[in-house]
Amino acid sequence: MNLALFGPPGCGKGTQAKFLVERLQFFQISTGDLLRDALKKGTQVGLEAKKYIDAGQLVPDNVVLALVQESIKSVPKGFILDGYPRNLNQARQLEEVLKKENVILNKNIFIEVPRDLLVGRISGRRVCRSCGAIYHVETKPTKKENVCDLCGGETYQRSDDKAELVSERLKVYDSSTAPLIEYYKENKKFYAVNGNQDLEAVYNEIHRIIYL
Ligand code: AMP
Repeated sequence: MNLALFGPPGCGKGTQAKFLVERLQFFQISTGDLLRDALKKGTQVGLEAKKYIDAGQLVPDNVVLALVQESIKSVPKGFILDGYPRNLNQARQLEEVLKKENVILNKNIFIEVPRDLLVGRISGRRVCRSCGAIYHVETKPTKKENVCDLCGGETYQRSDDKAELVSERLKVYDSSTAPLIEYYKENKKFYAVNGNQDLEAVYNEIHRIIYL
């Protein structure tokens, strides 16, 4: 079973993807994480991506495609695409890759969250530098300030989660990513879950969809 999780920034797709990895042994392919890793390592791709990430824009399709293609080739079994595709061109490019690799994307799961909640969810988000665990200063704080509960690593605010960039990212979501909803509704593999509930309730909805 292979899945794509999508939705606006701050909808909780990263958190849910991590649950699916821990509990159902999925393999997570997060283009955001792959780009941030590339940046940390100082690779050409990372340096190229930084300009776009820091401006709240999408990284060019072909840069991201190369990362996804590589990951899909190397995954041992079921994967979750987290944050990919992000526009219609990427959706079509993905179809080509899947065809070439003889892989099926079984379900596209859209996590829906009311617009007025997203800004608070994004600007309060904190991430562990070491293990990538995701927190929120109000709704899911770490026990000790800036220290990850799971691994003791330092938590930080992603540069693109700062309030001044959030409205730009939401604009990009509206113009580029939201059209995927209609696109995937047409292929009958589209499922929507209510992301405005506690994390376990969202997970239960996703779990139910997986086993439909
Ligand atoms: P995320 O971690 O999914 O919120 O992504 C953080 C940033 O990485 C985005 O704002 C984009 O700049 C870039 N990014 C992640 N995934 C993609 C993608 N599929 N296409 C283009 N840019 C992406």
